Amino acid sequence: MTAAKSAAVTAAMTKTTASRATMPFVLMYHSVAPYEEDPYLVTVSPARFEQQMRWLHSRGLRGASMRELLDAHRNGSARGLVGLTFDDGYADLVEHVLPALRRHGFTATVFVIAGRLGGDNAWDAAGPRKPLLTARQVRDAAAAGVEIGSHGLRHVSLPGSSDPALAEEIEHSRGVLQDISGQDVRGFCYPYGHLDEPVLARVRAAGYDYGCAIWRSELTGRHALPRTYVGAADSPLRLRAKTLRHRLTWDYPRASALRRRGERADMVNLHHSG
Ligand SMILES: [Zn+2]
Repeated sequence: MTAAKSAAVTAAMTKTTASRATMPFVLMYHSVAPYEEDPYLVTVSPARFEQQMRWLHSRGLRGASMRELLDAHRNGSARGLVGLTFDDGYADLVEHVLPALRRHGFTATVFVIAGRLGGDNAWDAAGPRKPLLTARQVRDAAAAGVEIGSHGLRHVSLPGSSDPALAEEIEHSRGVLQDISGQDVRGFCYPYGHLDEPVLARVRAAGYDYGCAIWRSELTGRHALPRTYVGAADSPLRLRAKTLRHRLTWDYPRASALRRRGERADMVNLHHSG
């Protein structure tokens, strides 16, 4: 993509009526559970998660699903909304995430792996095994107001995949999750944050309204939304710094040194997981 096209994509995400947040602010979580080892840095303890949600609340921010956030963004009413996303669909969502969201009046999006329901994170070679939501739990979460998105069929890196594989991962997974959840599955989340132009085009052509990536890239836009990693080390102070970093990145793009330094520090481990 050329620089001009990339700028146009970014401009398309920009709210024209005010100078505040031009790119939706989206937090990326995976698992919320008590833990002893967490080599991929995907787990936040329930106490830390509650503290983070309380901090958002205290700042006048409200956690929202991607569909709510993007709908609000479209009509200029996204102020104060923060996207909450949970990748992989860990079963601990039921016990440790949903009650906290309810307490604060928040909603969220969970990106589920359609072909691994009731299974575990077998793709993480070294990690402790974590159970994934069952189909029944996905249905219940959807009924409770959680947005269900697709994280593919098996949790594989998509760039370079064959045509039939892309059809399974992107299109078939959507159908499966629509049947289970009863929702129009609007969002796709790229496993490991890996995407390229053909993969993005396929996601768009499959009817997804948006796509969640991890990092900023020349493909950044509605179908490759960058997100802010939140981990166990993120105290309210650090969360505040990440909020400011998002604003600096998108409202004041020249303040890039701070942004790049922070992104590198956070993302080094997620290359292995996502
Ligand atoms: Zn993942």
